[in-house]
Amino acid sequence: MARLIKTDGTEEIVSLPTYYNEIRFLSRLEARWAVFFDILRIQYHYEPEGFKLKSGECFLPDFFLPNTSIRSCGPPGTYVEVKGSNEEYHKKYSIFWDFGLEKPLVVFVGMPPPFDDWHNPGGTQFLPVKDGCWEDHPMIFYVCPKCKATKIEFPEGHYFECNLCGTRGADADRVADAANRALKYQFVFGRGTK
Ligand SMILES: [Zn+2]
Repeated sequence: MARLIKTDGTEEIVSLPTYYNEIRFLSRLEARWAVFFDILRIQYHYEPEGFKLKSGECFLPDFFLPNTSIRSCGPPGTYVEVKGSNEEYHKKYSIFWDFGLEKPLVVFVGMPPPFDDWHNPGGTQFLPVKDGCWEDHPMIFYVCPKCKATKIEFPEGHYFECNLCGTRGADADRVADAANRALKYQFVFGRGTK
């Protein structure tokens, strides 16, 4: 069973169903991601729709972020899948590759990465292209230092430019703070409040 080591040294089981914001998340880890999105004011839908893939397998992505784009690619709208361990990630890898629908998918292992240029593993993007799927990593959440718009971006500084207002640079503290608060968030009697 996957366990998460928190910053205060305590452990928690990540696969524990958890109520947050009137939503029953299948895992504590997913609920922590929802807290992260709320703090950054990223709109999300939890498990909005499942897909039947070409292979015949079914896939129900954890989140859809209707207003979030990857880099400056295409219109906003990105699926996010969260896995508790690298082992779980590799088990489902062929599904991510096969996903190839009209919207991109980003898969993260563990908690939201704090904003740290080169020192976090980040997520992996599976971007649908003309003849299949394009995979790349690491991906992080970027926040504009001026208008606070968010996107999913590579961690190299020369990519840090806001899609909306064109401001260069990134609000690294805001992302790190959100990741840290999500990690420490106390879910009260299984029904956490904001
Ligand atoms: Zn901006």
